[in-house]
This record gives sequence, C-alpha cells and structure tokens, in this order.
Amino acid sequence: MCKWGIRLLLISFVMLSLEAKKDVPKLTVIFVVDQLAYNTIQKLMPYLKNGINFLHKNGVNYTNAFFKHASTATGVGHVCISTGAQAREHGIVNNKWWEGDLTVHVEDDRTGNAKILKADGTGVWEDRIGKSAINIMVDGISDQLCMHSYHDLNFNVYSVSLKPRAAICTAGKLGKAIWFDRLKGGFTSSNAYFKELPEWIVGFNKDKNLFNLEKFKWDLRFKKDAKAYNFPNIDNYKYTRFGKSIIGQEFEIDKSSKSAYDLFLATPSADKLLTNLVIKTLEQNLNDSDNEKFVLWVCLSSLDKIGHSMGPDSLESIDMVYHIDKHIEEIINYIYTKVKSEDVLFALTADHGVEPIAEIVKDMGYYPATRLYSKELLEKFNKELSAKFNIENIIKKFKEPAFYLDNAKLNALDPKLKKEILDEIKQLLLNEKDVIARAWTFDELLNSTFPKNSLESFFKNQLYAGRSGDIFFQFRPYNYIVSYQTGTSHLSPYAYDRQVPLIIYQKGKFEKKIIHKNVSVLQFPVTLANILNVPRPSASTVGVLPGLLSKKID
Ligand SMILES: [Zn+2]
Repeated sequence: MCKWGIRLLLISFVMLSLEAKKDVPKLTVIFVVDQLAYNTIQKLMPYLKNGINFLHKNGVNYTNAFFKHASTATGVGHVCISTGAQAREHGIVNNKWWEGDLTVHVEDDRTGNAKILKADGTGVWEDRIGKSAINIMVDGISDQLCMHSYHDLNFNVYSVSLKPRAAICTAGKLGKAIWFDRLKGGFTSSNAYFKELPEWIVGFNKDKNLFNLEKFKWDLRFKKDAKAYNFPNIDNYKYTRFGKSIIGQEFEIDKSSKSAYDLFLATPSADKLLTNLVIKTLEQNLNDSDNEKFVLWVCLSSLDKIGHSMGPDSLESIDMVYHIDKHIEEIINYIYTKVKSEDVLFALTADHGVEPIAEIVKDMGYYPATRLYSKELLEKFNKELSAKFNIENIIKKFKEPAFYLDNAKLNALDPKLKKEILDEIKQLLLNEKDVIARAWTFDELLNSTFPKNSLESFFKNQLYAGRSGDIFFQFRPYNYIVSYQTGTSHLSPYAYDRQVPLIIYQKGKFEKKIIHKNVSVLQFPVTLANILNVPRPSASTVGVLPGLLSKKID
C-alpha cells in the first residue's frame, strides 16, 4: 500500500475509534434486584412512583424477558446476566453444590489467594474460606471490559451488593466486588479483588457505625392504609417464617450469633445502606476524564432475603419493592448531579422471580399446590432403596432440582444394578405424581434432544458434570420440595420464577419503547458489549436484544 493509502487507513481507524469512544457512555449502572419477578412489577407498577417507574417509563422495556434454565437461584442468575452463557458452560449450577463430600458455595475459593478482608482494614481473616469468582468457568462482560481497557479508553468496573455471591458473580475475575460481611458486619471484599481494603470502604464502615450496629426497625414506605398495600393475602402470615408482621418492631443485633446480621440484611435499612455505599463508590471512583468510563453493578439483595421468609404476597415483600423504588431514585438523582443524563446508561433486571407460598395458592383454590419436605422424602426413598437393594443411604444430598447420590458406592456396583437403582429413584419420584411431572438421570438429560425452548431443555442447560447432581426432577407448577416448612423459594422452570424485568435506558439513545417479543436475559451482556464497544463474553452464543442497536450510517 502506498504512503497516502496507509495514512488514510490510519486516519479512518482513528476516526472510527474516536467515534466508538464518543458513543460509549461515561457511566453504566446495572441494577439487579434479587427476586424481582416480572409479575411483581406488573402488580405494583401503579404504586411505583420513583426509580423503577422512571426507568420503566423512559427506557426500552422488554416485557417478556426470560432465563432459560430450570431451577433459578441467585448464583446461576447473576452469572447468566454477566456471562451471557448457560450454566452448562459457566458451571454455576446453583448457589451451592457438592463435589464428593465437599460442599462448594458459588463464591468459595480455597486456594489461599482470595482471603476475606477485615472490614475495619486490619488485614485478612485467615480462618475463613476465601471468596472469588474462581468457580465461574467462563469470562463475563466485566472481564471483557477490563481486558479491553487500553490506549485512551479505560473501564473501571465495580459491583456492590449485600450478598457476596451477587457481587462476585457480576464483577467476575477482573472487576471489583464489594459485599457485606454477614458474619462480622461491614462492607468488605477479598484478596481476589484488593490487596487491602480501600481506605474509603473502611471509612464508610466507620462513618456508618457498622461495627457497632445494634438496633434496626422497619418503617413502612407509605401509610398502612394506603391503596398500595391493598392486596389479597398481604396480612396472611400463617405460612411465613415469623408468623406475624415484623414491620414497626425494633430488632437488636446479637453479635454473638452466627446469623447476627441476617434479619437486618432482609430489611430496607440494609438496602438503604447499600444505596449509600453506591453513592460513596461513585464519589470515590468516578472522575472527569473522557478516557475513563465507569461500569457499576448494583445488586440489591434484601427483597430475596425477606421474600424467602414471608413470600411475595406479604406486606414486607411488597413494601420492600417500594423502598427499592425509592433507593433507585436516590441513586439516579445523585448520578444526574454528576454526569449529564445523555452520558449515563441504566439497566434494570433481576436474577430470578419467585413462587408464591404454596399453601396460600392452595387456600386460593388452586388445589394442586403442595409443599413436600426434602428431608422426609430423602429418608423415605433411602429406606425403600435399602429394603429393595440392601444398600444404605445412597441418596446423600438434595438441592433443587436434583438428588446427589453416593457415587463412590454406586460406581462400585455392577453397572446393571447401578442402572436399576437409578431407575428406582426416578420411579420413586414419579410416584409423587401430584408434585413431580418428570424425572431424569444425568445421562438421560445429557443425551436427550428436546424441542428448543421446552421446559426439558432448560434442565439440560443447567447440567454441569461433577456439580449439578445425579437425578433431576421437574415439579408441577406451584409445587415444591424444600427443606423449610414456611415461606417460599424460586426453584422451578415456570414463568413466575424465570420471567424478570429487563429495561435499558440512556437519554436520547435507548428510550421510550416497549418490546413484547420473547427475549433471553443472556442477550443483555452481549448487547452491553456492543454498546460499550468491547468483545462479547467468550462463551455467549445469543444475539443482541432486538430494537436497540440498528442505526443508519451517514
Ligand atoms: Zn433466593
């Protein structure tokens, strides 16, 4: 190529890269609200007047956004949102699983390289299991943004949450994850993200008095008789963990208890604290340089914590959403004082939905709704297997949607006998025909071809050898097998668990549109990669979200 040709090529390359850089918003904020089902938004929208409403009214709103895995949980949901891949690729099949006798939580890191930092800045906790993204087997959008920070475009990526697994699953390996230490109090991180806890986090913990937190109280967002609370079953506490409302009561934090902060973390006070930390994170890390872009995940966890205990119909869960609405508004308002609105991209989504408490559904007249107890079922099955095959405790663990078997014992058996035992466990499950619709062994799921987007295919998407269990089952709608006798969960492949809000908003760019087409939440990080002009997460194969990115080239 001649000299002029090379010059022209270089000039056009620089122009293109300048153009791309100009298009990248200064600030991207992704709100992930743990357990915010799409149907909750539908139900409460008339009373949401603040941040959620602002995004809903102004943004591009996907009304049919789904996860495509069968048993929804925080870990798998957040990793899907950040990697654009299914659990069969990223390996996060649940919040915890068993590898032989070892219990592995999503965020566990036993290498010694990810020690948890003390929230007062005085070093690390030597005696606790570390926390990092080591178990996530693929990269996510946060990793891509950090990997592709060079020349004159640099991405700072943070994720803040009350839950470590939410922060870690979105920050990935290269972003910075910050979470609340539920055993010791205060916000913290690990050596996987920081050599030592930044001074501004230590200062925040001190300013907010988080080491001496003693009491907290839940105040309603609106007046008790407001129409915003006028829903069926709002004061039905019969099937909830506490058996009564916890609103208005003052609670003390008993720091000698292992679960000292658990109730606190399930209240709007904790959510408000996270809101303050979000503002502090921005204050400390957002700068004016055109070359510096900031991406912040805000993972709001309190709704999930209270939702499990009280169910989505309770006054507590509904009021929590109203508080979240307000907190998101506070964050947006703060941001708009610092960055011009055209230069901020917001997204709002959730990691999963929620199932109403089965007994409440049954009382409403939907009679098939049933709760089975995992412990009872496991004992009953083991007893029957022992009687038939003379083998003890072959089913070792249960974690929806699978039983974990004693593979050391099973693999020592004649293959024919092993198959008979597996078939028998399946049959025992199918005998619970009012609750269980289908059951499979690992190999059956792995080797079957199911219609695209069928419920069965969602189970297959969640298979990961060595982590996801041995015998899988599908509940019928509004049923579940759980370890607790009250409250609820989110364990099924049904719409109430898989459908979540998905909104993208940037003033002047992505706004005021409703898209009813079915989309996958996995498309979100791929779309974000396109907007921020970095490569998509490596294991994602889905396309970008419709209705956003096409534009005419002048
Ligand atoms: Zn949950």
